Amino acid sequence: METSKVARSRIELVQELNPFEMAQKQFDRVADLMGLSEDARQILRWPMREFRFQIPVRMDDGRIKVFFGYRVQHNDARGPAKGGIRFHPAETLDTIRALAMWMTWKTAVVDLPLGGGKGGVAVDPASLSRRELETLCRGWIDQIWRNIGPRIDVPAPDVGTTPQMMGWMMDEYSKLIGQYTPGVITGKPVEGGGSPGRAEATGFGVVYQIREAMKLLGLDPEHTTAAIQGFGNVGQHAAQAFTQFLGGKVVAVAYWDRKDRRPYTISAGQEGLDIDFLRSITDTFGTIDKEAARKAGYLVEDGMAWLSKPVDVLIPAALEGQITEETVHLIHPQVKILAEAANGPTTPEADEVLRERGVMVIPDFLCNAGGVVVSYFEGVQNEMNFYWTRDEVLARLDQHLTRAFQEVFQLARDEDLYPRDAAYVLAIQRVVRAMEMRGWI
Ligand code: NAD
Repeated sequence: METSKVARSRIELVQELNPFEMAQKQFDRVADLMGLSEDARQILRWPMREFRFQIPVRMDDGRIKVFFGYRVQHNDARGPAKGGIRFHPAETLDTIRALAMWMTWKTAVVDLPLGGGKGGVAVDPASLSRRELETLCRGWIDQIWRNIGPRIDVPAPDVGTTPQMMGWMMDEYSKLIGQYTPGVITGKPVEGGGSPGRAEATGFGVVYQIREAMKLLGLDPEHTTAAIQGFGNVGQHAAQAFTQFLGGKVVAVAYWDRKDRRPYTISAGQEGLDIDFLRSITDTFGTIDKEAARKAGYLVEDGMAWLSKPVDVLIPAALEGQITEETVHLIHPQVKILAEAANGPTTPEADEVLRERGVMVIPDFLCNAGGVVVSYFEGVQNEMNFYWTRDEVLARLDQHLTRAFQEVFQLARDEDLYPRDAAYVLAIQRVVRAMEMRGWI
């Protein structure tokens, strides 16, 4: 019921605003800003390759049900395409095209030798039994295995897919080509060729960049506060890193209450929330036990209360489209940094307001790139068949993201660009250079 409600609203969103048209418009705007050649524009406005296929699954009741699967490779000038697989009822070719294009910019802005791709299946995974889900995962590989591979296109988990599902997919691919090939897919369980540090990579990566932003603004991290929307994988690890690594306080955390089917904000005073305690009362879907929070002396407030807190840093780590023309004015004047951990949390209209107010925005495809960086490390370790420790992985992640952050903000300063535009310019320039080097344009 809840999933179908969420799905409907995403279907409505997709119908209202075609995400691929939005991705193309964003690209066109930056292409104009850069004076990009028509040759480069023609190639980059559309994905290089698109696959749409049927996946027939014999369901537990004995009948065959046909699902539709997709894989889109937007660009592979810099290396094999890279991007997750979404299992969501609202998935269409256009949502996947948009996500694939955004992956090209994400891998380029953090300077990974990879391109951009994305895949999906239009399905509500919660509606399937474990056997049906495994059959669907293997079926997805059966349809596309000729067109993916460690040197071609490397999928990963995304919304609605899990490490276990990546394990089944890797196994199916290995059987089909007759060789153990862990590098065909990343985000696998650690005991099945996954990388240590992958689970915390995105949330920690967000905070490594917040640390760099604070240096630029001259803020002492130990005297800063943050409010976070979302307490799932990314929100929890960002909260942990913000308090443990930076010594700051997280004063509010918003989450979606699956039972009440509405969001709430759990908040504390300036002394901050006890993140370990909060994690201990949170289920695997990121729903917090609000009664336990209340008993611990915390306030349970409206779902959007997190946005109006007088904090230094806001971390949207839940959904797209949360900071809009209507909600952007709730943001307190004290806010100095907006770290976009979620994908697309800010609408273009709200972005204009933030730009005018001078909030330092760490744009989503840079801010949440920690996951893809460690996915890349996973592929490297698979190729070498030699594995790093968690500390080594996290140290390399920090180094990588810090460099990317500095490059983007240096360009923003040098060219007087808004950080989001600077990130786009840097990413597009890198892809264009690779296409020139290869003689495509
Ligand atoms: P998740 O499913 O683990 O957690 C989502 C959290 O958001 C949950 O706590 C949920 O209760 C909360 N939430 C949902 N709707 C809400 C609402 N309306 N108001 C308040 N809270 C709400 O997801 P995740 O993996 O943490 O991903 C969060 C975001 O980060 C997504 O936008 C995702 O695309 C992006 N992202 C994730 C990764 C990754 O490695 N997991 C990488 C890049 C980007």
